[in-house]
Amino acid sequence: MIISKKPRELHDLLEKKRKEKFEIGFVPTMGALHDGHLSLVDAAKKQNKIVVCSLFVNPTQFNDPEDFKKYPVTLEKDILMFEGAGCDVLFIPAVEDIYPNGTNDLTHYDLGFLETVLEGKFRPGHFQGVCQVMARLLEIVLPNNLYLGQKDYQQCMVIKKIIELIGLRDEIKVNICPTLREEDGLAMSSRNTRLLPADRIKATTISKALRYVKENLKPGNTKKIKDEAMEMLLQKGFLIDYVEIANADTLDLVENWNGKQKVVALTAAFLNNVRLIDNMVINT
Ligand code: AMP
Repeated sequence: MIISKKPRELHDLLEKKRKEKFEIGFVPTMGALHDGHLSLVDAAKKQNKIVVCSLFVNPTQFNDPEDFKKYPVTLEKDILMFEGAGCDVLFIPAVEDIYPNGTNDLTHYDLGFLETVLEGKFRPGHFQGVCQVMARLLEIVLPNNLYLGQKDYQQCMVIKKIIELIGLRDEIKVNICPTLREEDGLAMSSRNTRLLPADRIKATTISKALRYVKENLKPGNTKKIKDEAMEMLLQKGFLIDYVEIANADTLDLVENWNGKQKVVALTAAFLNNVRLIDNMVINT
């Protein structure tokens, strides 16, 4: 595995591969790897000649500075895991390489409605940071295929939008991979390592609540079932940002479900300052 730290060096290396007509798959991450990340590398391996992964904890997407400070960093272990998973080129840039002119006055992207609901509403500025880093990474790597996790449902939509906004829609195919879960249902996440042991057990309630919605949603008003899911979380001591049911294609919130429209249940909630998110598509 080649480790590259400089954008120009990586860009030139990939340019050569592109000239040889090698398909390039790209898996962006913030490190602290788990099997969810590795499943994306696996998917990329199957479909591309070259797999590029990035490891960069992007400061501009943390709307809460404490969350950034506490974000888990396991660099040595990550490098071994990327290599073991078959990553060909690992990009580990420094903040100055991604943001050569600093992190103030970065481009603002018009994400419209997407930035006003759910994660957009509860984490102001977060998706601007996601766009800033993705625009830069995509411009450096120029992959044929990009691999993202459904775990970050709204982020997948935001990244599709940024690809469109920077004019790469015809160049880059977005592949969304299913959420990998622990045996007890908890969606794998780097932040899970920050949960206290007692909270780790309670954390399974997130997927239980979403599964409850998935299995019991009936056509009509969605308020009652959302309240029931919220109650499950409240009883375990969660502080809830939202439990919502939304149109799976647009994320418009669905107050009355017609029983046919494809919808997704999404939640974000804290256990002792650790913020967890998860979602389940209800009718695939
Ligand atoms: P992160 O390092 O958290 O920025 O995540 C990097 C990529 O891995 C993103 O596309 C995430 O959606 C994806 N990912 C995170 N958790 C999971 C999971 N449990 N299953 C599948 N993909 C995941």
